[in-house]
Amino acid sequence: MKIEDMELEPRYTASLMANEPLTAPGAADEVRELVLMVDEGGFRFDIGQSIAVLVAGPHDFGQQHHVRLYSISSTPSAQHQKAEITICVRRCNYVDPFSGERYEGVASNYLCDLPVGSRLTIAGPIGMPFKLPENPESNLLMMGLGTGIAPFRALIRHIYTERGGWRGKIRLFYGARSGLEMAYMNDRRNEFARYLDEKTFAAVEVLSPRPARNEPAAFERAIRLHKAEVWSLILDPNTYVYLAGLESLRNMLETALAELAGSTDEWARIKASIVADDRWAELLY
Ligand SMILES: Cc1cc2nc3c(=O)[nH]c(=O)nc-3n(C[C@H](O)[C@H](O)[C@H](O)COP(=O)(O)OP(=O)(O)OC[C@H]3O[C@@H](n4cnc5c(N)ncnc54)[C@H](O)[C@@H]3O)c2cc1C
Repeated sequence: MKIEDMELEPRYTASLMANEPLTAPGAADEVRELVLMVDEGGFRFDIGQSIAVLVAGPHDFGQQHHVRLYSISSTPSAQHQKAEITICVRRCNYVDPFSGERYEGVASNYLCDLPVGSRLTIAGPIGMPFKLPENPESNLLMMGLGTGIAPFRALIRHIYTERGGWRGKIRLFYGARSGLEMAYMNDRRNEFARYLDEKTFAAVEVLSPRPARNEPAAFERAIRLHKAEVWSLILDPNTYVYLAGLESLRNMLETALAELAGSTDEWARIKASIVADDRWAELLY
């Protein structure tokens, strides 16, 4: 659905409680974590949903607000009378291919530079939640790229620190250009380290083979390296698959999984049955 067609009412005012870097010093791509407190009561969200941030104009194309979506990386447990929402924002800059001029993405730079204590306008929540299966024996296969880590941070935190007793396998494949860009998984902040004691949890770092040349994180290679486990999870009717982050993840995974299946047609057949069982969820952008 296009942003212009989205329901952006009611709108809420939120106060910025924290704005910290999530990536390591020296990362080519900066990702920041922002914690917001919704000023009004009544804002309720679920894991896997996003908020719309409305940046007031004037803007180049005359629109009143520049609206962009950010997925929530906190769990709904912080929703007391007022909801607390955490988001991860990658600072986006664009180079015009003709003029070579560099432009700053409007909403991401606005958020990354917003001082703590500021007020901002949001709407939502937007999108379908990531459904967590009832059965704690279920396996979860999560694959995320860049800021796609946001909903997985919420899901994994919910499972281990709020729910407990999970017995199925939880596998996180997380990709970024280099180790410095792995939000929540670097020397500055290693959020997932605390779950490594859990027998059911394992995380796989997926990096770019040539970060300096801007090559993407090598998902195909990571899946090939872990093919026995990935394939047995994919074929297990007790496995739920979650994808999040940049749209380019889809093609990388389609190629890798078709290779494991033996053909594109065979993979299409297997994937269709996972989708039909409601065990496939995507938050790609
Ligand atoms: C469901 C969903 C969830 C999302 N979750 C997250 C998240 O958790 N974290 C996150 O960081 N992002 C997320 N995004 C992306 C986010 O919504 C924004 O798209 C992103 O931050 C860029 O917005 P911006 O306003 O900074 O850039 P904009 O100013 O909107 O620019 C974005 C687009 O305009 C083009 N552009 C802009 N200026 C120029 C120019 N001068 N020359 C050429 N092209 C130009 C770019 O190619 C780009 O496609 C999500 C998107 C969706 C749809």
